[in-house]
Amino acid sequence: MPAPNPLFDLAGTAALVTGGNGGIGRGIALGLAAAGADIVVAARNEEKTRAVVAEIEACGRRAMGVACDVLQREHIDAAVERARSEFGRLDILVNNAGVAGGGPPQSLPEETWDRVVGTNLKAVFQCSQAAFPLLKEGGRGKVINIGSEYSLFGSPNVLPYSASKGGVIQLTKSLAAAWARDGIQVNAIIPGWITTDMTAGAKSDETFYNRIVARTPARRFGEPEELAGAAVFLASHASDFVTGQSVAVDGGYSIA
Ligand code: NDP
Repeated sequence: MPAPNPLFDLAGTAALVTGGNGGIGRGIALGLAAAGADIVVAARNEEKTRAVVAEIEACGRRAMGVACDVLQREHIDAAVERARSEFGRLDILVNNAGVAGGGPPQSLPEETWDRVVGTNLKAVFQCSQAAFPLLKEGGRGKVINIGSEYSLFGSPNVLPYSASKGGVIQLTKSLAAAWARDGIQVNAIIPGWITTDMTAGAKSDETFYNRIVARTPARRFGEPEELAGAAVFLASHASDFVTGQSVAVDGGYSIA
């Protein structure tokens, strides 16, 4: 087997993945670990977190689970502090935690707006803000935000979700511009339709599922591990001159 390309080598780095205990976050956490990173998994469900920590440790990497609700600023600060106290550094922040939600805009409850936009947008900002000192200190800071096709397209039924995910792209550009001279690159991944708990309902609705697959040039859903390649690229020295960008990993959904 050829030697791994050092450009993509994450040995000696530490990453914090919000929502890293399932779905896309787990796929990315395992991918970063396979490239050499130690991982902090920050999410609410401690049982799921323990399982992913064990999977990462089985790859030979250090891993740590932190009970964290990203709607609580003190939880975010505590998760970042755990990265500092246990690993002594934080090089990579993956803002992946997210929730779906919507309904007719004219009757959308304020609670839905606050929960969805709070989780998908405000927390992305707050996690980035909390991580900034360590990302800067380590000299190779990377922030990877998770957008959505709804970052690009509107939808009548998921207004807070699409508003939050559209905001993630502008947040990505603004943080990228602000922190470029601090040696921090900030980019986003735009997943297409990926098989996770979030899309289980869509996948089991045959009509809806067939519509999505027909609309996707690759003619299938993606799998969480298929996000790992883009994440490793955006976490590594291979992307040191790439910032403020959005990389679609979507089987072509956004281009056809
Ligand atoms: P899942 O529902 O499978 O996972 C969501 C993750 O987010 C869970 O690990 C959950 O952990 C965590 N999470 C949710 N709320 C919070 C919170 N308040 N604090 C901390 N963690 C939280 O969804 P996906 O894996 O599909 O979604 C991951 C990201 O990808 C989301 O941002 C989503 O919007 C985005 N995305 C997904 C697509 C798809 O097709 N699946 C397409 C485009 C974007 P816990 O409940 O333990 O806290």
